[in-house]
Amino acid sequence: MRDIRNIVILTGAGISAESGLRTFRAEDGLWEDHPVEEVATPEGFARDPDLVQRFYDERRAGILAARPNAAHEALGRLDASWEGELLIVTQNIDDLHERGGADRVLHMHGEALSVWCTACDARHRWTGTLRDGPPCPSCGQVAMRPDIVWFGEMPYQMDRIFHALSGADLFLSIGTSGAVYPAAGFVQHARESGVRTLELNLETSLGSRLFDETRLGRASELVPLWVDEVLG
Ligand code: NAD
Repeated sequence: MRDIRNIVILTGAGISAESGLRTFRAEDGLWEDHPVEEVATPEGFARDPDLVQRFYDERRAGILAARPNAAHEALGRLDASWEGELLIVTQNIDDLHERGGADRVLHMHGEALSVWCTACDARHRWTGTLRDGPPCPSCGQVAMRPDIVWFGEMPYQMDRIFHALSGADLFLSIGTSGAVYPAAGFVQHARESGVRTLELNLETSLGSRLFDETRLGRASELVPLWVDEVLG
């Protein structure tokens, strides 16, 4: 690890699993017992906005009640002392990286604790509910939706992510199934840019064969060990 200076880390639902937040695809393609097309697509929202607002109200409450685990805290420790470039790209909509002490975090799929007004385009931090149709604090219209990137929508800051990947020495993937694109394609991009690749996951994923190395186990154990290795 001595020649590593610039690091890009991709995290998925697996890093938050030990904080009590359920993963997504797991066995059945359901997210908290809902088919994803019902709660994570613009079409699902158009069809039944109340159901979708209630779903994210529950996710928001669950996230507020959860606590970062040893994996989030280890990445916070890395961020605090790493002098090279570091970008933690998360697919997660929770804020456990930030509460674990990390600053250099990019939420490519949006954030549960942010809402987006489709009338005036303002974004606000939000810890309450949306099911009751609160007016936007900026424009007063009732047009706020969760600030989440749904299937069929463009993830945030892709140019910045690919730029960081191209200049990285190491790409590390933690707790992601490799089923959701474009994040699942980052390992291929890293390989083509000559970047070393390492995967930490509970079990082999769809992308495992593309990584230089895969370590299997729980994020709360593997991530602190890896951070010790890279800092030591
Ligand atoms: P996923 O649910 O498709 O896959 C989770 C992966 O984590 C699996 O490969 C699994 O083996 C692994 N895993 C499970 N427990 C683990 C542990 N303790 N340690 C290490 N690895 C573990 O997740 P994804 O690839 O992130 O895709 C899901 C999508 O759903 C994302 O886009 C995300 O926005 C959304 N989502 C977010 C949250 C959250 O914010 N916490 C939770 C569920 C889903």
